[in-house]
Amino acid sequence: MKTYSHWIDGQFVEPSSSAWLDTVDPYQGEPWARIPRGNTADASAAVAAAKKAMVSGPWATMSATARGKILRRIGDVTLESIDRLAQLEVRDNGKLLAEMTGAVKNVAEIWYYYAGLADKIEGSVMPLEKAGMMGLTSREPIGVVLALTAWNAPLNFLALKCAPALAAGCSVVIKPSEFSSVSSLEFAALTKLAGLPDGVLNVVTGLGQDIGAPLVEHPDVSMVTFTGSDITGANVYAAAARQMKRVTMELGGKSPNIVFADADLELAVAGAISGIFGGGGQMCTAGSRLLVQNSIKDHFTELLVEAARSVKVGDPMDSATQMGPMSTAPQYQKVLEYIQIAHSDGAKCILGGKPAQGPGIKGGQFVEPTIFTNVSNDMQIAQEEVFGPVLSIIGFEDEAHAIEIANDTLYGLAAGVWTRDVGKLFRVSKELKAGTVWGNTYRTYSYMMPFGGMKQSGIGRESGVEAINEYLETKSLMISIAQSHPLNIFVPR
Ligand code: NAD
Repeated sequence: MKTYSHWIDGQFVEPSSSAWLDTVDPYQGEPWARIPRGNTADASAAVAAAKKAMVSGPWATMSATARGKILRRIGDVTLESIDRLAQLEVRDNGKLLAEMTGAVKNVAEIWYYYAGLADKIEGSVMPLEKAGMMGLTSREPIGVVLALTAWNAPLNFLALKCAPALAAGCSVVIKPSEFSSVSSLEFAALTKLAGLPDGVLNVVTGLGQDIGAPLVEHPDVSMVTFTGSDITGANVYAAAARQMKRVTMELGGKSPNIVFADADLELAVAGAISGIFGGGGQMCTAGSRLLVQNSIKDHFTELLVEAARSVKVGDPMDSATQMGPMSTAPQYQKVLEYIQIAHSDGAKCILGGKPAQGPGIKGGQFVEPTIFTNVSNDMQIAQEEVFGPVLSIIGFEDEAHAIEIANDTLYGLAAGVWTRDVGKLFRVSKELKAGTVWGNTYRTYSYMMPFGGMKQSGIGRESGVEAINEYLETKSLMISIAQSHPLNIFVPR
């Protein structure tokens, strides 16, 4: 079993505590590697390396064009290592090899995209109302960025945070989830091959309370970018607020996938299936509330159940598998508990609802594709994030009713709308309180489109040109070009 170390200042460094954590393969149900159990001293070492890189390393004075070239090479080394990286992801999070191979390709594209933006960070010249004055703005890196990430897509989260942060000229300390840290550690070593100077990207591992919390509180961290649950996110946000740190928060969801009677039902069935059973439902954007117009509800439910029965559950490395295991043991237990709660609240299970068994199923962490009807939107199963393959079907009468149910949640991450009526598609999308609305598709992502949550699903945006702004400070420079200076005594502020 391989033992990993932190990646700090361009090299692997053993944890100061000499303590490690097992990381478990969710399919085999057994530990397959060991990662450092980091602590406050490791947090300080990583932040010191990141700060040094910003202040006195080659990164501090490097031109934006040269930064962009390094980011481009990071994209190249990612593609050269695609098979290795995809397999590491599968071993750690149990997602499908085919899905993770696609995800790593996308990771390379994210690096290329932000490589191209590095030298397009521009300031402005303002036409000031005051005579004899000139106003300029420049945009500067915010400083050392701390990235805290969830277990379901580690390299994707790393790229979505680190690529824009590095393009902006920041340095980063990233702490991936304790359940899936290995790919980030190996990835960091690849960035050195791509020419990234030491200390610009540091990866430390361990538990949230041991190393995550001291990192958030470290005074030399200027910003925290977080992907994870809303409960942890709120704690991290509160801790960051004590030092007025900037945050971005990518949190959970309870996303409505809305099917109108005039939709292409075959497409909508496929979208509903991929929306909840893709990734075993372990996605922030899972379309876990399927809102179906009452006039087609029974027919649509029949079509859906028939399609869901054929979802092949098994070995994530097997190309025929469509749904793998639950990524972590606590998550597996949590999903089964939610199924019990749904039963007790009076929902009717029409498919699955049990631990999955059968050929190709090992390790005891599988849940059957599960569908509930008789769900009302105030039930726990319709209000709380399950993060598993559990779908709730809820009927609605008309447009207004669909919008009312869709928005009746604390979350606002994503939504789907299925209809052939373009006007209706626009009207409904406009009313939905969600950061992303998909029309006649679901779970379609692009690194060019801003992504993030409304309400309790988050703060700020990742992806797209917009994301780079999160890592920049605007500085205003006002210069007098007049030959005399006014007595600026009676000015506001
Ligand atoms: P989590 O909140 O348990 O952990 C996220 C990260 O925070 C981990 O690295 C963890 O070690 C760290 N952490 C925990 N306590 C901490 C503390 N006190 N201080 C600092 N760091 C701490 O989340 P998870 O279970 O790993 O991930 C699942 C959640 O992530 C789901 O709610 C899902 O919806 C959400 N998610 C959101 C997005 C998005 O883009 N919106 C994407 C994927 C996952």
